Amino acid sequence: MGNRNEELRVALDAVRAASRICRAVQAKRVDPNTIEKKDRSPVTVADFASQAIVCGRLEQALPDDPVVGEENADELRTDGRHAARRAVVEHVAAELGRDADEHRVLDWIDRGAADGRAARYWTLDPIDGTKGFLRGDQYAVALALIEDGAVVLGVLACPNLPAPGGGRGGLFAATVGGKALSYALWDDDDVTGSTVSVQRVASPSEARFCESVESGHSNQSESAKIAELLGIESEPFRIDSQCKYAAVARGDASIYLRMPTRKDYREKIWDHAAGKLVVESAGGTVTDVNGRPLDFRKGRTLEDNRGIVATAGPIHDAVIEAVQRVRGGE
Ligand code: AMP
Ligand code: MG
Repeated sequence: MGNRNEELRVALDAVRAASRICRAVQAKRVDPNTIEKKDRSPVTVADFASQAIVCGRLEQALPDDPVVGEENADELRTDGRHAARRAVVEHVAAELGRDADEHRVLDWIDRGAADGRAARYWTLDPIDGTKGFLRGDQYAVALALIEDGAVVLGVLACPNLPAPGGGRGGLFAATVGGKALSYALWDDDDVTGSTVSVQRVASPSEARFCESVESGHSNQSESAKIAELLGIESEPFRIDSQCKYAAVARGDASIYLRMPTRKDYREKIWDHAAGKLVVESAGGTVTDVNGRPLDFRKGRTLEDNRGIVATAGPIHDAVIEAVQRVRGGE
């Protein structure tokens, strides 16, 4: 076990740096050089630069820690990707405030190649919700530390999330056993943060639920049936990325439903590790659609879990019961 406060400081610094890069890429409003991955999902210059800066920071501070990152540099290393490669290096250099060596930047990206089976590892989604990022909507930079299968630290940056005092940008973090904290994303001097907690609802019918914007990522007709069964009349709050976990943690919504769209899909650990700890530390509960705890010991995916249900806490069992009734308790 490391020094948790120091690990938190490193993680906050890293995701703040990544968020500045993502904001800079988005502000350019030019085609951010989208590349299609093998699974046909998009990846941008910002995804690569974000993973490079976070892995670079982790390498410097905690050189022995493996990282399970979503991206790798295989495609970027090819001849055809010269322009994208140069753009990635330039964004990383701008954040470093000095020249960046191309080989080092690519190697930082590839530090994310660990398999998630070590007793202790970090997991990173350099841009969660890339489709939201490309639309100019919500996305997140998510970083978590896992020890013996348990998430012990989670940091979630949401650069486009409306901030309570106006403007945009939210940064949420938790360490195991502590409270969920919200920080000013663009102010590196905010190292203390302030507590956030879930909004308790007396009955599930009063809950507002959130889900993915993408119907290919979450079965929206199933969630509509679940909401109906629970007596929820308000419209679903559709928002990309782990910003859904942030929304539950700070009380914008009380339920997050992620209903499987395909039998063979397994949730990725980096899509849930940070968000889960932030919601739990804010007083909420997170399981899969069968009410099972998320198991982070199975490699890069949550192999033994299906979908996600996160709630403000006391209503969790009632929500799981409704989910089971709609899904027919497979
Ligand atoms: P969201 O912004 O909630 O739609 O989630 C974005 C994440 O969905 C991406 O980071 C992908 O890893 C993940 N994803 C891709 N395909 C699926 C799928 N079929 N079911 C659930 N999640 C998916
Ligand atoms: Mg993701």
